[in-house]
Amino acid sequence: MSDFSLLAARVDPTWTLFLDRDGVLNRHRPNDYVKNWDEWEWITGSPAAIARLTGRFRHIIIVTNQQGVGKGLMTEEDLVDIHTQMELGLRGLGAVVDAVYFCSDLASNPDNQRKPRPDMGLAAQADFEGIDFSRSIMVGDSDSDMEFGRNLGVTTVRIHEDPEAAKEHPNVDYAFASLADFASALTGEPVL
Ligand SMILES: [Mg+2]
Repeated sequence: MSDFSLLAARVDPTWTLFLDRDGVLNRHRPNDYVKNWDEWEWITGSPAAIARLTGRFRHIIIVTNQQGVGKGLMTEEDLVDIHTQMELGLRGLGAVVDAVYFCSDLASNPDNQRKPRPDMGLAAQADFEGIDFSRSIMVGDSDSDMEFGRNLGVTTVRIHEDPEAAKEHPNVDYAFASLADFASALTGEPVL
């Protein structure tokens, strides 16, 4: 059995899945932010992957840094509207996200609560019963996501175009090319 299949065999509906947003669910806008729903572009297979993972975890929680708000490029209302539309689209596929935590602080703010700081994970743990970081996975595409996972003590999964190379980093436990590939490996079922 591969290393990952040992983890997959341990994951049950007491576990929590933390997901990064940009670069995992939807495409990054280079040097920009998703400022409204028109700018949102799903990554192929990601909504179906979340549908496949729904019910296999106790909670699915999105944690996202959004300093475009802090920079004044969009309002918090714009961001909440994007997340409302996102959750509506997901629900139509049977994909349920329990909560979206965002941090609009500027990275330059010394007191910011952005990833890699653990604040959003700790806030989720305070808000939801049964979040055990030893039974949690963080899926993200950046160094800060992996460091966030390490800071919480959760299992880390990096989404990267070169998973073999990404796995070499000490903060990365497992790596896949997409959320769809992760969901397929976890469930043993293809995600179309
Ligand atoms: Mg990201």
